[in-house]
Amino acid sequence: MAERKKLTTAHGAPIGDNQNSLTAGPRGPLLMQDYQLLEKMATFNRERVPERVVHAKGSGAYGTFTVTNDVTRYTKAGIFSEVGKQTDCLLRFSTVAGERGAADAERDVRGFAVKFYTEDGNWDMVGNNTPVFFVRDPYKFGDFIHTQKRDPKTNMRSSTAMWDFWSLSPESLHQVTILMSDRGLPQGYRFVNGYSSHTYSFINADNERFWIKFHFKTMQGIKTWTNAQAAEIVGQDRESSQRDLFDAIGRGDYPQWRVCVQVMPEEDAETYSINPFDLTKVWPHGDYPLIEVGIMELNRNPENYFADIEQAAFEPSNIVPGISFSPDKMLQARIMSYADAHRYRIGVNYAALPANQPQCPVHTYHRDGNLRSDGNSGGAVNYEPNSMGGPVEDSRSLEPPLKVSGDADRYDHRDGNDDYTQPGNLFRLMNSDQKEQLFSNIAEAMDGVPERIQTRQLVHFYKADPDYACGVAGKLNLTHVSEQVATLADLSLADLIVKTSAEAYSEVATPEASLAKAAD
Ligand code: NDP
Repeated sequence: MAERKKLTTAHGAPIGDNQNSLTAGPRGPLLMQDYQLLEKMATFNRERVPERVVHAKGSGAYGTFTVTNDVTRYTKAGIFSEVGKQTDCLLRFSTVAGERGAADAERDVRGFAVKFYTEDGNWDMVGNNTPVFFVRDPYKFGDFIHTQKRDPKTNMRSSTAMWDFWSLSPESLHQVTILMSDRGLPQGYRFVNGYSSHTYSFINADNERFWIKFHFKTMQGIKTWTNAQAAEIVGQDRESSQRDLFDAIGRGDYPQWRVCVQVMPEEDAETYSINPFDLTKVWPHGDYPLIEVGIMELNRNPENYFADIEQAAFEPSNIVPGISFSPDKMLQARIMSYADAHRYRIGVNYAALPANQPQCPVHTYHRDGNLRSDGNSGGAVNYEPNSMGGPVEDSRSLEPPLKVSGDADRYDHRDGNDDYTQPGNLFRLMNSDQKEQLFSNIAEAMDGVPERIQTRQLVHFYKADPDYACGVAGKLNLTHVSEQVATLADLSLADLIVKTSAEAYSEVATPEASLAKAAD
């Protein structure tokens, strides 16, 4: 029999006894000098890194992206350089609101974050399973997430907070409609589409820019649970999506996605009827059809969840030559906030962790910092410019200039914005069963929410489609407000807010009051 490896301390010294601590006499007390026990306990105490503020609960796997269609007329990105080319990737799925121990089968948006290890550096496509988002100005992001998390006093999630915020932010209606539809509760991660949601850009070899949206269409088909089915699943298995993904890959049933892009010529953005950089809007397929670029397959489970998935750090700021940003305000804010969150969560040298390491050479003048584990560039020159042969810039990766115009100001992002047509279009393409599910899911989610907030939200449904409001009102037993909803729908948002305020309903607007009402 081969001799087993010897147990050591973290510093390599042999451990003679890993069962009994060092004590004065058999009954104790412990001796302070038992540094092996201290190291073991202290390391254990530090096992958890802070969980992500959002997307804390996740699953992931490694895979391969294969180009199936030539898009080199749109982009010079090496990953797309020829049909048949393969690039390694890592995909992390997640729920958004739940903490790291939350159940998988919950109604929530699913995160869909892919890291492509290209020859020009890591390209991260940090998307969701929905093509739009709840807000279009990053100023509102933290507020929105607070409504999804726990109430500061009750430490419970608050449906009143969610619907209060959504009903005061009509730009959320599109995403709310998707979240409350059948697609809001996927059977597992293999059964979701992924979307960049944001508009990005492609730049080709002639330095021409195109605006781009990425779509990852599941080849397993969209599969969803009803609320009742999910309640049963959660009762039996809180890790249903993790298990489904891990087991499928384990048995060689590799999930695949058809990767497509919508392409908009740069100048179209000036005249297109929709602001193409508005994260609450899609580009209708009729205007910009999907063009297939490749197939993404997941074919390798993580060897160690913490190293491969928990320490994986995805950031929209990871772009490569040929793929770049757009003026989308939400994307612009994420360029800062994701890398910032990783520096806080796993440390400034997080790019050197195995899951995040590029598969191409890295040459920077960054030095030092916590947990520098990559040799810190040894004795190489640490300033630039230098005449010591250090790495130098390469102007071939420069982008064409981007035209910007306008006065710096805080522009009202709701001014002249149509928040209703696209959610209405989505509602109208649902079949009657999907509409029924939508109505019931919303009514369940609104349980206990004050009537004035329900009424305010019904107005938004009405403006998307009167049948939408009518269906939800029926499930809420609120058909008596139908006439009022139709009248309120003619008001401006400011007037609607006044008419549905706590004062207008002689209600005390405090979390306690809402909670008491919910308990009635
Ligand atoms: P299309 O008829 O060309 O596309 C409809 C899209 O709706 C399809 O991509 C379909 O996805 C998707 N869809 C169907 N049911 C749901 C649901 N419950 N939740 C989310 N998506 C769903 O029409 P348009 O391009 O004009 O879009 C109409 C509406 O469809 C939009 O307002 C938007 O709400 C929604 N949509 C549009 C997308 C786009 O990029 N244009 C992307 C996703 C949704 P699938 O093909 O996988 O079945």
